[in-house]
Amino acid sequence: MMGKVKMSKRLHIGVYPGTFDPITFGHMDIIQRATRLVDRLIVAVATNVSKDPLFSVEARIEMIENELRNHSFSQDIEIIIKPFDNLLVNFAKKEEAQLLIRGLRAVSDFEYEFQMAGTNRKMSPDLETVFLVASESYQLIASNLVKEIARLNGDTTPFVSAQVAEKLRERFSEPI
Ligand code: ADP
Repeated sequence: MMGKVKMSKRLHIGVYPGTFDPITFGHMDIIQRATRLVDRLIVAVATNVSKDPLFSVEARIEMIENELRNHSFSQDIEIIIKPFDNLLVNFAKKEEAQLLIRGLRAVSDFEYEFQMAGTNRKMSPDLETVFLVASESYQLIASNLVKEIARLNGDTTPFVSAQVAEKLRERFSEPI
């Protein structure tokens, strides 16, 4: 006899948190992958004053919005961009998310991410952390390096979209 499988009809909601200072092709690749896993994806933009971001949270959100507008997602998916400055597990709970999405780049990300996932699980056992790996060509991209290239007047277009590259240029041509 075949076993009966109970199918859940609930919405699958994922939170993808980050600083996104600024959004890169690596982030976009993770977003694209995450859309295959959830019905609603909340891109949660950390105010993160401790990281002293180059762009304001409003500017970072605007860049993500532009990026998403120019990208077509094959799946029927709702993507919402929201700022957050509270504890991530509390934010996820308020959004009724079951999944916490993080991207893993190199081995160097692992220890920190492993510790975060464990800590978040202690605080919120029902929230499952899922690690996604970007496609090979985007794996090594990091916002910090992109900012460094822009600061030194280098070409950032292999790593970020033309609109983000332009924002970086503007930002670094401003008088300090
Ligand atoms: P945070 O301050 O949380 O590290 P980031 O904006 O740097 O914020 O990154 C957000 C998430 O996206 C992190 O999980 C990070 O590992 C992931 N990420 C960033 N760039 C890449 C990339 N090139 N490939 C895979 N994951 C990435």
